[in-house]
Amino acid sequence: MQPHDRSASSASSASSASPSSARTEVRPASAQRQRVVIIGCGFGGLEAAKALEHADVDVVVVDRTNHHLFQPLLYQVATAGLPAPAIAAPIRHVLRKQIAKGHLTVLMGEVTSIDTASSCIVLDGGEHLHYDQLIVAAGATHSYFGRDDWAKYAPGLKTLGDAFTIRRRVLTAFEQAERETDPTRREPWLTFAVVGAGPTGVEMAGTMAEIAQHTLSTEFRRIDSRMARIILLEGAPRVLGAFTEDLSQRAQEQLEGLGAEVLPGAKVTNITAFGIHYDLNEAQADGSSKVVSHFLPTRTVIWAAGVAASPLGKSLAKSTGCELDRAGRVVVQPDLTIPGHPNIHVVGDLASARSYLDPQHPTAVPGVSPGAKQMGRKAAFNIMRRMKGQEPQAFRYFDYGSLATIGKRAAVAMIDLPYINKRVKFSGFSAWLFWLFVHVYFLIGFRNRMVVLMDWAWAYFTSQRHARVFPDPHALEPNAVLVRVQDVANAPKPPPAAS
Ligand SMILES: Cc1cc2nc3c(=O)[nH]c(=O)nc-3n(C[C@H](O)[C@H](O)[C@H](O)COP(=O)(O)OP(=O)(O)OC[C@H]3O[C@@H](n4cnc5c(N)ncnc54)[C@H](O)[C@@H]3O)c2cc1C
Repeated sequence: MQPHDRSASSASSASSASPSSARTEVRPASAQRQRVVIIGCGFGGLEAAKALEHADVDVVVVDRTNHHLFQPLLYQVATAGLPAPAIAAPIRHVLRKQIAKGHLTVLMGEVTSIDTASSCIVLDGGEHLHYDQLIVAAGATHSYFGRDDWAKYAPGLKTLGDAFTIRRRVLTAFEQAERETDPTRREPWLTFAVVGAGPTGVEMAGTMAEIAQHTLSTEFRRIDSRMARIILLEGAPRVLGAFTEDLSQRAQEQLEGLGAEVLPGAKVTNITAFGIHYDLNEAQADGSSKVVSHFLPTRTVIWAAGVAASPLGKSLAKSTGCELDRAGRVVVQPDLTIPGHPNIHVVGDLASARSYLDPQHPTAVPGVSPGAKQMGRKAAFNIMRRMKGQEPQAFRYFDYGSLATIGKRAAVAMIDLPYINKRVKFSGFSAWLFWLFVHVYFLIGFRNRMVVLMDWAWAYFTSQRHARVFPDPHALEPNAVLVRVQDVANAPKPPPAAS
């Protein structure tokens, strides 16, 4: 029996299969109903699954985690403002009604490859799962621009695991500073670098500045947490490059008002356990400019700079010859399928998609949650259209604008009002309130909304961040080693000071 043979393996799982062969198919699929397999239950995958609720298909949702994650609030978990369950919901629970109807199965497992020749996805245990229709919504991961060796010194923020790592490193750094008696050695523990000034970097830097200035300010005896430096390095000339210049400027001012330092134009050249090397184009006295190399001693670096598509994009390209863009995203057709495979849709951050709102002038769809959700819905919709013998529709992305928070009472907003064809820009407290409303509204589950609202209200009035606990304090992370003499002895010498 071929492991990917749907009918044969379905029968085997239903009857005399051995335990291992039974793993090849999880539940028998009826001969009449098409099976739609959805890889990933993030924003795109979840919307697709919900949109198929009333379709006459069997849906199988496969995700490597057991939860749907609301990534826009992940920085709150990383900075101890919210507990993990407030921004994550068990996939089984979210989809329980469809599971109860018998139309949907949830499998927790990592998809390692896609074999389009046999219409199967391959799971981490080697199981093959047949699909009639496939929606690939596996999202993106961090990119260190070819320097994966930096990952252990500069964790990115993408999963709950990443958020816990960052929380532990940030809080541990303050603890280490309190233990350190030598001021020169203490300084790197009280210096925090965030690389990349997109929305995530800006949120992280602003919130860490608040932690240093307010949350911890009365809780240490040997150190003054308010002396901590939070430095945001950005290779481009301004922060929040996707926003207009005036809002970028407002964001930088608000960050600096919170106590963070902003270094636009800083190109990171190396990251080690002891600090960060970067180049800055600096104006000289004679009016010329010169690239000057710097070394910032720090034990805590957070990476918010690069995004790369899920490796499943490469697997699809290998199997189908489809095109990938520079970030490894799958270049999809107007209906979100890949050329020659009308039954394979790619949605969300993994897709390099265009919007055909104006069919004459298609525009690139940004890697944001509304884009992923709208694509997920469109893929499901087109599957249903095809099943009825109708032509699929081109994807049309409705962009309602961009929001970024910087800290308490600080945010920037750029909202598009399509009906009156106008863009509204605002910043400060009103933008922050709007940001808060939008994020609470889109959280999954009534309980989560209440928990987040209550935690934020508490934090607003007390500046406290009650999730300041972390397991495994002695985890051997590069910045979490206890202060030891050999650390300092082994520390690389900083480059000579700029002349
Ligand atoms: C820190 C952060 C903050 C953000 N803030 C905002 C914001 O404020 N506003 C906004 O609009 N967007 C924001 N985004 C972007 C937004 O979250 C993404 O655009 C959106 O999540 C993309 O949805 P997706 O479904 O493509 O992927 P995801 O939501 O990432 O979901 C991918 C899913 O696939 C699963 N998966 C991945 N690989 C496999 C595999 N091999 N096998 C099985 N399962 C797999 C993952 O576990 C995950 O559940 C933010 C992103 C991050 C990381």
